[in-house]
Amino acid sequence: MSFDVQKVRADFPILDQKVYGKSYIYFDSAATALRPVQVLSAVEKIYKEFNGNPHRGAHYMSNQTTVAYEAVRDKVASLINTPKREEIIFTKGTTESINLVAYSFGEAFVNEGDEIIVSEMEHHANIVPWQMLAQRKKAILKVLPITDKGELIIDELDSLISKKTKLLAINLVSNVLGTVNPVKEIIEIAHKSNVPVLIDAAQGIQHTIVDVQDLDCDFLVFSGHKLYGPTGVGCLYGKEKWLNDMPPFLGGGEMIEQVSFSGTTFNELPYKFEAGTPNFTEVIGLGAAIDYVNEIGLENIANYEHELLVYATEKMKTIEGIRFIGEAKNKASVISFLVGNIHPYDMGMFLDKMGFAVRTGHHCAQPLIDRLKIPGTVRLSFAFYNTKEEIDLFIEAIKKVITMF
Ligand code: PMP
Repeated sequence: MSFDVQKVRADFPILDQKVYGKSYIYFDSAATALRPVQVLSAVEKIYKEFNGNPHRGAHYMSNQTTVAYEAVRDKVASLINTPKREEIIFTKGTTESINLVAYSFGEAFVNEGDEIIVSEMEHHANIVPWQMLAQRKKAILKVLPITDKGELIIDELDSLISKKTKLLAINLVSNVLGTVNPVKEIIEIAHKSNVPVLIDAAQGIQHTIVDVQDLDCDFLVFSGHKLYGPTGVGCLYGKEKWLNDMPPFLGGGEMIEQVSFSGTTFNELPYKFEAGTPNFTEVIGLGAAIDYVNEIGLENIANYEHELLVYATEKMKTIEGIRFIGEAKNKASVISFLVGNIHPYDMGMFLDKMGFAVRTGHHCAQPLIDRLKIPGTVRLSFAFYNTKEEIDLFIEAIKKVITMF
């Protein structure tokens, strides 16, 4: 199918909104993507037509919800090519998925003196849960460094890994630098020393084809809201061999097999990790988002977004005093930059008043911002509903802001 940006834009009614009386130009999809009408209708349909708690009731609507909810597990399994549907756990998002692994894997496998490795370019969601685990278990957090251009120094991995290394947690795409990390190569290196790997695909799943069998990752996590789905839903993929040996994270309904005051036995996968009423409405909305993305085709999305990335980068080079933060060879459609001495917050504030939604600041990656010795960045992130015309308007706007300083 050929890609028609105007056709897909019609699916995103929010793009017709005006802000401060101006056209709304959304360059903040890395923070949260917009949702197409197909997702909005799926969510509305559940509340309007077939509300019912999945897995619980024997009544008609509860069964309908159960079938729809479980069908999404199959869609996710197919999206990331998992061997077994039971290896997909629905969570609230990437953050909860990583916390689940940090807690449960940590309980089962991490002891005093053990080591966890993360990289210098991780989001706080892939740092803090490991720090909390390290504190709880008196373990050690080690950090894989990056180059000034924003690429991982993979050559240092071998010397960082030791007999004490219990897990390596790394992102597929950096939310600040846009760097696409060579995770397959990293996983191969880690596996040579029998170190399992968690991939934070929060910024990758919407831009590239992710195949967990090809990667051979041990865990992979992502959020629905960055994949054009609703908020409050995300996924954890984990190899069955790990998930089976990990204790539950949250306790409550549905994650049990048998409860008595003398003790409780737990349900099998995936339910062992899905305590309480799940966000079934959002899960079903995520299913609609996956259908939508599949219909356009991730390859078409990746190609078009790459075209936008190259177009914007080349045009932005003409801005006097611009400095790109993140110049990796392989990048997703994220551009972080600074101009002269203009503080990113000032730039963001002026751009906002002109109708542009960009993100400014440390992007929940303070250690990376400290490493780069900068106050933060202005970040624009594209999705397939953005256009070259929007980029042209953005560049004019930046030039206008510069004249104000
Ligand atoms: N990791 C990365 C790389 C991210 O970009 C984000 C979101 N900005 C997260 C983790 C956390 O995702 P969420 O807030 O949806 O849990």
